[in-house]
Amino acid sequence: MIILSSPSGAGKTTLARRLTKWDSAIQFSVSVTTRQPRTGETDGCEYHFRSRNEFEEMVQSAAFLEYAEVFGHYYGSPIEPVEQAIRDSKDVVFDIDWQGGLQIKNSAHCRDTVTIFVLPPSIAELRRRLLNRGKDSAAALEQRMYKAKDEILHWCDYDYVLINNDIDSVFGKIQQIVLAERVRRGRQRRLGNFVDRLVQEFEG
Ligand code: 5GP
Repeated sequence: MIILSSPSGAGKTTLARRLTKWDSAIQFSVSVTTRQPRTGETDGCEYHFRSRNEFEEMVQSAAFLEYAEVFGHYYGSPIEPVEQAIRDSKDVVFDIDWQGGLQIKNSAHCRDTVTIFVLPPSIAELRRRLLNRGKDSAAALEQRMYKAKDEILHWCDYDYVLINNDIDSVFGKIQQIVLAERVRRGRQRRLGNFVDRLVQEFEG
């Protein structure tokens, strides 16, 4: 599980989507949210859009790997697609906030998790990117800036921290992280058998 977090506007959604295009063995975790879809968003693509009642029912039935309240709305990562991805030997990338990242890191899945935090190059640049995105009202933009500080202060909970000066260069670093994490000894399940065979060859 690859957890990508950053304040809104620092580029994590673009990076998460690029990862899935780069490697078809990486699947995007489509979160469930109680917020309204924005123009251009489709149910099941960016998010699964659900009512508060439906979300709470999912919480009751333990359908989430993690969930949190962000900007007054609930957001959660459904557990079932992640379990299916693990059965299919796929990686899953999550575009979630620090609360969700921490919940997954502190869960039984911690050994299967890599956490990456993306920082903006400056707060002025973050504000500029949010303004250019044009998705938010003035009030929503101020709310995002306020939450950005809270988000940034959790940088130290993450395994890797990258500064997004240039999206291509950050993406290159994320590719390197994924490739390196895949060859960690504990993640190569068939390595023991392979080495056993090498030793048998010596004996032969
Ligand atoms: P937005 O409404 O702008 O799409 O997302 C708002 C924030 O919620 C972003 O920081 C995003 O990463 C976070 N978020 C999206 N999905 C989830 C989720 O499933 N769990 C948690 N904890 N945060 C999420």
